[in-house]
Amino acid sequence: MLRVDHPSFQRALQEIEDSIDNAWHTLCDESGVTPGTPEARELAEVVLQDTSEFDWRVVDGALKQLTCTECGSGLGAGPLGCTACDLANGFRFAAQETDRPGVQSRNEHALRVSSAVARTRHRYTPRARAGYEIALPDLLAGKIPTTPQAQRAKDRINQLTDHELEQLIDPRPLYGDL
Ligand SMILES: [Zn+2]
Repeated sequence: MLRVDHPSFQRALQEIEDSIDNAWHTLCDESGVTPGTPEARELAEVVLQDTSEFDWRVVDGALKQLTCTECGSGLGAGPLGCTACDLANGFRFAAQETDRPGVQSRNEHALRVSSAVARTRHRYTPRARAGYEIALPDLLAGKIPTTPQAQRAKDRINQLTDHELEQLIDPRPLYGDL
């Protein structure tokens, strides 16, 4: 089974997607605009003017409201090499990472990067996808691999073929229990 078809990956992705939608709806509420309207799209453009002012989920939520004028995909989600999407994807990474209560500080950063890979996976190599996506359920649960664990996983991942990489789902055999 491919990882993308596996329920634990799909559940993790849905949880991320819901948290991004919630963050966007909260900003819309606070700003007095209705999600899905032209005013909400204007708000999204304001957010993207300075993403360092906002939490990454709000920024990802803003990107979801806009369509790329160059490639027609969701802004930032087009193919690699679409300059408008490449630029928007860069803005994504200037956003704030607000630690969730009771969770290690590096967790939110790892979660953000893993989410970006999992949500726009066609922009990444099979090796990068495997490394980031298999960690997603643990990261959502507030856990994070240690540096030696992550290194061990990376060494193993480097030995697998692209097809084997797309079938990886359980990180335990790669880095043990967290
Ligand atoms: Zn594009």
